[in-house]
Amino acid sequence: MATSIKDIELSNKRLTEILDIANDWSLCHGISILDSGDAENDGKKAITAPFSLFPSVVPAQILRQAQKSMKHFNLLMHKVALDHSFLENSLKNVIQADDFMKRLWDIYLQVREVGIKQPFYFGLFRNDFMMNCLKSITAGDLVTADQLELKQIEFNAISSSFAGLTEQISELHRLTLIMVGKKFESQQLPENKPATGFAEGLAKAWELYGNANAVILYIVSGNERNVIDQRWLEFQLYETHPHITVLRKTFLDINNLGVLDSNSVLTVNGMEVAVVYLRDGYTAENYSSEEEWNGRLKLELSTAIKCPSIQYQLMGSKKIQQELARPGAVERFISDASVVQDLRRTFADLYSLDLGPEGDEAVEKALASPEKFVLKPQREGGGHNLYSEDITKFFTLHRNSKQREGYILMQRIFPWQQKNYLVKRGVPFQLSDVVSELGIYGVYIGSAEQEIANYQCGHMMRTKITGTDEGGVVAGFAVLDTPFVI
Ligand code: ADP
Ligand code: MG
Ligand code: MG
Repeated sequence: MATSIKDIELSNKRLTEILDIANDWSLCHGISILDSGDAENDGKKAITAPFSLFPSVVPAQILRQAQKSMKHFNLLMHKVALDHSFLENSLKNVIQADDFMKRLWDIYLQVREVGIKQPFYFGLFRNDFMMNCLKSITAGDLVTADQLELKQIEFNAISSSFAGLTEQISELHRLTLIMVGKKFESQQLPENKPATGFAEGLAKAWELYGNANAVILYIVSGNERNVIDQRWLEFQLYETHPHITVLRKTFLDINNLGVLDSNSVLTVNGMEVAVVYLRDGYTAENYSSEEEWNGRLKLELSTAIKCPSIQYQLMGSKKIQQELARPGAVERFISDASVVQDLRRTFADLYSLDLGPEGDEAVEKALASPEKFVLKPQREGGGHNLYSEDITKFFTLHRNSKQREGYILMQRIFPWQQKNYLVKRGVPFQLSDVVSELGIYGVYIGSAEQEIANYQCGHMMRTKITGTDEGGVVAGFAVLDTPFVI
């Protein structure tokens, strides 16, 4: 593999041996998700999370560009979240069309009405990109950085996952490359410590809250499969800050056990909560009853530092991403023209679908060539977008209806195709044509006046078979991967 997986020559026997070693290495090092079996009756069963056998290639310039932009994205998104009129103008039509967004918006209004009790905001973000290929090439052929453009797919402001598992994948790939005799410089598989960076953020937010007896509260779902990834952060935190207690509770627990005192201090089982870290609550299905919504509201009304607060969650919606792409929108928040240009360069073409001539024009464009677009609702976690003929079907049904305002239209990115072996149930283990999505992790802590932390803390890749529309590892589309830098 001078520069590509295609160059690795392996006998089938050796390949099978390496696969076996990689599988066992993954089990030993906690690259795991829980099996979807019946945890209550069978006990917990972990299986290896899907992964690629080798890393996928990323030009150094592209990785650097993505990393360099992260601090600016952190600050931009923080400022967006604190700008009430920007949020309101951007989301006013979405909340009419989408009940889930309306519920989030109503919580935000309630929190504003009684007065925001915690001035500090805390984000553990992941900004996702694809490398759009400017020329048509055969899978596995090399392209240079100038034939690729880094394009933002989305900015995740809630429950950004895989900081934990991805640290281990970098080490796994070091091993598999060495086993096939691939020579590489250590910086080609760069050190990658996002879980460490996230744990530092959690500890910093906890310190900022200022009560040595208070706890960090994870909000998790009762049927979560990605528990090990969450635990990696928690265990990292114990290693560096063993005096901090971490609780894991559901929204329902908070509804039942959480107490807000007259100063809006939140306690759970008598323990004061300093930081709330949401690994649940990003999509409508996470709130199956009013009690769960009430649990969320209780958190938002408290003095605890929330990761994320309701404003941060709203800021991370696809609608805000689309509104930020309008001329002048980024400029509202950032005055440095060269920074604005660096961020804007990564934006794909994005279109509002609000009723009116602008939205009508976008609908016409999508109907004329649906294969060039992705239609996105305000959802997270993979599996919600519409592509190709589903776009046509959607607009045939909802051409002029309010419903279209709950969605945005996005230019479809056609990423650089490479070759790799994916290790995943239901996918044949063979050299396959694949495409990757690069995520950059970032931490931000700040108030309207003060910045406490703003850093970029690592990367991850998710890789899928070419032609698979959706992404998402737990959702079942992609595998975990890391960049091999050339
Ligand atoms: P979610 O919040 O559900 O992860 P995304 O916007 O990340 O939503 O979309 C899910 C997946 O769909 C992505 O991981 C990516 O694989 C694919 N995707 C999203 N937007 C585009 C796009 N503009 N072009 C090509 N693929 C896309
Ligand atoms: Mg997302
Ligand atoms: Mg995504």
